[in-house]
Amino acid sequence: MKLLKEKILREGIVIDGKILKVDSFLNHQMDVQLFNEIGKEFRERFSNEVVTKIITIEASGIGIACMASQHFGNVPVVFAKKTLGANIVDETYSSDVHSFTKNQCYKVKIAKRFIDKDDKVLIIDDFLANGCAALGLIDIVRQAGAGVVGVGIVIEKGFQPGRKAVEEVGIRVESLAIVEKFDNNQVILKE
Ligand code: 5GP
Repeated sequence: MKLLKEKILREGIVIDGKILKVDSFLNHQMDVQLFNEIGKEFRERFSNEVVTKIITIEASGIGIACMASQHFGNVPVVFAKKTLGANIVDETYSSDVHSFTKNQCYKVKIAKRFIDKDDKVLIIDDFLANGCAALGLIDIVRQAGAGVVGVGIVIEKGFQPGRKAVEEVGIRVESLAIVEKFDNNQVILKE
């Protein structure tokens, strides 16, 4: 995705040689037109699949997943919660996730009534690093007895083991931009 790659190269800031800050268009301020193109691209990549639901994780995946849904026939979007508000009394599926950016573990949860065993789920997230968030969501979908069609990622850090970890559990990964490395705080993208 040319537009996305140009944005990353123009606006991305590398923090401590390991975190890519893209809060001018993805993680804080959101470029809605770009999100729409991202959604369209996910639809093209998964055009051979039936998708009945999109699952993501709060917070940064939500905007992307909602825009993507419009290209998948407005399928419902469910986001996994990192904490549950007191007003949520549903039974939940949960999985433990280690946060790459915060270096701590937390539980992600989805109410059981929002995943049906017949669902064919596309998982969408902003970044793929070590794969913990994606694996946690795959685990939840599998607990529900539903199927995972694939994992759609906006930015993959190709030098981290996330793709391998997800593919090892039998799930297809589609990333729209892959960072090959950070070189002196410069982002080098894979062609
Ligand atoms: P993983 O679970 O694959 O290790 O990391 C993915 C999650 O960590 C994403 O949901 C994203 O929020 C966060 N993350 C990992 N690496 C980066 C990064 O370089 N930049 C930003 N902004 N978030 C990241």
